[in-house]
Amino acid sequence: MYFCRCNMENNNTTKMGIGGLLRRLLPFVTPYRWLLVATLTLTFVGSLMAQVNAVVLDKAVDRINALLHLGGGFQWGEAVRILVVISAVLLGKEVLAALVTFGQRIFGEKIRINVSRDLSLRVVDRILTFRMAFFSQDGNEPGKLQTRIDRGIMSLSNTVKNFFIDILPLFTSAVLALVLMYAANVYVGLVATAIIPVYFWITAVQGRRMKGWRHRVFGTHQQLSHGILNIIESMGVIKSFNRERVEAAKQATLQEQSTDQQMQTRRISFLYEGLKTFVEQIGTVLIIILTAYLVLVDYPGMSIGKIMYHVMLFANVSAPIRQLHRIYDDLNDALVYAEGFFGLLDADGEVEESGKVKVESGKRMAGRFELRNVEFTYPSGAHALCDLTMTIEPGKTTALVGLSGAGKSTIVNLLDKFYAPDSGSITLDGVSLGEWDTQVLRDNIGLVLQKNHIFSGTIEENIRYGRPDATHEEVVEAARKAYIYDQVTALPEGFESNATQLSGGQQQRIAIARMFLKDPPIIFLDEPTASLDAIATEQIKNSIDAIKQGRTVIVISHNIGQIIDSDYLYVLDRGHCVQHGEPQEVYRQGGLYKEIFDASARSMNVDKIAETTM
Ligand code: ADP
Repeated sequence: MYFCRCNMENNNTTKMGIGGLLRRLLPFVTPYRWLLVATLTLTFVGSLMAQVNAVVLDKAVDRINALLHLGGGFQWGEAVRILVVISAVLLGKEVLAALVTFGQRIFGEKIRINVSRDLSLRVVDRILTFRMAFFSQDGNEPGKLQTRIDRGIMSLSNTVKNFFIDILPLFTSAVLALVLMYAANVYVGLVATAIIPVYFWITAVQGRRMKGWRHRVFGTHQQLSHGILNIIESMGVIKSFNRERVEAAKQATLQEQSTDQQMQTRRISFLYEGLKTFVEQIGTVLIIILTAYLVLVDYPGMSIGKIMYHVMLFANVSAPIRQLHRIYDDLNDALVYAEGFFGLLDADGEVEESGKVKVESGKRMAGRFELRNVEFTYPSGAHALCDLTMTIEPGKTTALVGLSGAGKSTIVNLLDKFYAPDSGSITLDGVSLGEWDTQVLRDNIGLVLQKNHIFSGTIEENIRYGRPDATHEEVVEAARKAYIYDQVTALPEGFESNATQLSGGQQQRIAIARMFLKDPPIIFLDEPTASLDAIATEQIKNSIDAIKQGRTVIVISHNIGQIIDSDYLYVLDRGHCVQHGEPQEVYRQGGLYKEIFDASARSMNVDKIAETTM
């Protein structure tokens, strides 16, 4: 199963039928009801005009036939008159039909494009509200989510067009043609009617056989786009390990699977299509034979023109029914994609919860965090924190120390409410974290990570992300404080340069400049200098020292220089807190902190450094 867990709980979506699908789509269509009425009217007029050819030909053939059998030589005047009338009617009808079709298509497309935009806005709004845990669940990887959203929007907007715009006129066109056939002759009408259930039966069998394949094809598509995204993201690693062939082979296996599945669906589709064309042809032949027989036996009302008339009317019956099958096919596709798509809209359990507590106006958060017996397990099953109890004092710098995987970043994730603990309690300034308004909480917390996200755009736009209403002068001031101003102004385009082309160290300082603009009372620094050179590290240390003043800071670092600068520290080992206290006191206790500290000093070759700098 490749859909998100969220929709597994939701029986409505996993068992969605065509009726359910249309009900879900209706709210997206109602804003455009007048456009819909206009489109339907035009299409209805179009389907009326589609019958004109048959009627004109019927009359024309009979008139010409009568003219040929008239005694007294060929009457040129009458013949020209018939031809002029036929041409005028047919041409006039074509001009009108072209205008009607144009209007119908433009309106229809307008509805489809608008609905597609609305669906896309709705789903983006929706996933922005999801908690972080959703994105680390199996099946919600970026490529898979993207396919689910793209395909969903495409097939749902097509469904809108198919069902709300095409299907009704098609039905009326077919019914109209059938009525005309019955009016001309009951037996001919009966033959045409007898073909329809056979056609529908074949379509239904085809739909059943295709259903399982559609799910498989969709699953493989999701895996393919996720795989390609992965390759692009990991290009550096792939190249440095010379693993191009391995990656290509992985894709080849998936592509092969996709090719097989597509061929299989095509094979089934062509087989049944052929069968339906055959049935249709049999219908046409039966109608020709029957009408010819009726003409030969001089059945009342039958003339040679009726052969053409009936065949054309039958085409007007069968063509819309063939279209109905295409729509049925698209609807079945849409059912598969709709499950994944509406699964996202329905995933109420994934929406981030927010409390109501806000900061009193004119006051700032102090930043006193208290964790009591906190347990936390990631959705993947990794038990990251065990019975953790700690206090983060306001206005102080607290360091979290421990080996990789000890749970340090997880604590920051919990304090920022990206995840909620399984049990235990976390309070901030005496209020349970869950009761804080999430937006207010995050407005008051600044997060600097090891690798900060730089959005495509200019340097100025990226810094302004910290506070969208900041002036240019404030952006410049923030850049100065983050020690990036000189480097930015040295670039040919200055603050207008593309931020994604900056080096890792420069990007890090852009992130810190963002923080200066945001000016939060609480700051989490998660290995902010881990990927930087010594000079950049020193510059960032200076700017971090400046920003620390009067704020609550949690710093995660492997750099002992930054750790010993802290007021208090907690040492973590596999999710447990094993030591805590002031840095020197904890060192004196021995244990894990001393081990890490000494190893770090040895790896830095402190003795030699001391000798060198003497
Ligand atoms: P540290 O910051 O101390 O290096 P983390 O807090 O990142 O450690 O990780 C603690 C444990 O949680 C590790 O076992 C890690 O594999 C796991 N973990 C971290 N992030 C995730 C995630 N998004 N999904 C699943 N497991 C995770």
